[in-house]
Amino acid sequence: MSANNTAGFNTRAVHAGQEFEPRTGAVVPPLHFSTTYAQDGIGGLRSGYEYGRGGNPTRDALQEQLAALEGGTAAFSFGSGLAAEDSLIRAIARPGDHIVLGNDAYGGTYRLINRVLGDWGIGNTPVDMSDLDAVARAVATNKTRIVWVETPSNPMMKITDIAALAEVAHDAGALLVVDNTFASPYLQTPLALGADVVVHSTTKYIGGHSDVVGGAIVVKDADLAEKIGFIQFAVGAVSGPMDAFLTTRGLKTLGVRMDRHSENGQAVAEWLLQRPEVEAVLYPGLPDHPGHDLAAKQMKKFGGMVSVQFKGGEAAARKVAESTSVFTLAESLGGIESLMNYPSEMTHASVKGTELAVPVNLLRLSCGIEDAEDLIADLEQAFAKISNG
Ligand SMILES: *Cc1c(COP(=O)(O)O)cnc(C)c1O
Repeated sequence: MSANNTAGFNTRAVHAGQEFEPRTGAVVPPLHFSTTYAQDGIGGLRSGYEYGRGGNPTRDALQEQLAALEGGTAAFSFGSGLAAEDSLIRAIARPGDHIVLGNDAYGGTYRLINRVLGDWGIGNTPVDMSDLDAVARAVATNKTRIVWVETPSNPMMKITDIAALAEVAHDAGALLVVDNTFASPYLQTPLALGADVVVHSTTKYIGGHSDVVGGAIVVKDADLAEKIGFIQFAVGAVSGPMDAFLTTRGLKTLGVRMDRHSENGQAVAEWLLQRPEVEAVLYPGLPDHPGHDLAAKQMKKFGGMVSVQFKGGEAAARKVAESTSVFTLAESLGGIESLMNYPSEMTHASVKGTELAVPVNLLRLSCGIEDAEDLIADLEQAFAKISNG
């Protein structure tokens, strides 16, 4: 069957863009590697396909699936999250334009905006996105074209009110871009809350198995879709067919994975909260998290990302990071296997010494889909190593 946009999330995830192959009836649409397409006479294209950069059926299947899940009218798939972000900004902003972004944005996003696009005349102001007055002041100061937010943010797990931020952005004539990588469309659909654009590193929860790098843009507006489609074609940072296929396969099980990630995140956060070694647990599912009520309103569940700060400072954080065995010490997040990250030296090393720097006593945990007891037992034995030196 094909899924229309009124079907439930999991039905859309499994079926959108996934029509069976008409000749053989193959239930899984075939993976198309061909770079070019036979023409029936000059310009006589079958189904519009001409050349692989411009269009590929496997990529189109993923794009249709992504649009259906985010509630957009069009989606565009790229070779990485940052390739998607670069194409998006080039489609919207021109030299002299300004981007207001969260002061704890993903380090690579800040590096792209500040160190690459900055040289092409695009300015930026990092602000605390959970402080809407500060955002309103920042957008009014420059020719702001884009307000860029991550919620929950990485790795500080701050929650921003997407609907309220959309109003602030629109009042200033700017577009609101939400990096929805941490929540995924299963937990949060920013377009429905008023955002103009959703971007993803599909490398994380959407791919979900730590085996494919990719990125995506999803939009509602047809004019904006046309501009982004042109950049995707003209710049060519597209995802390859194998990557698109793996991403589609991951996306089909997003809902069941996010349910488990969320259960495990909650269990780990609650365990951490009672530990004497812990200074703070940053997880929106905890009732005393400053963004808890807002997260409960705009998210379906609270996800699998948990950050923790240690009373024992950098030494304690490093000890735990290097002592786990079920949690693997590695960059990235959102896969079925649990990962442990020390942001200030790993994922966020590129913002060290800037105003986006991450506390040195902080670890970020990506809780996978293993059994929660095993995750907690692993942390328990690692915590024992703090006090034992
Ligand atoms: C990983 C990540 C990105 C960058 O995506 P890549 O696929 O690594 O290029 C952007 N935003 C967030 C929140 C991320 O976690």
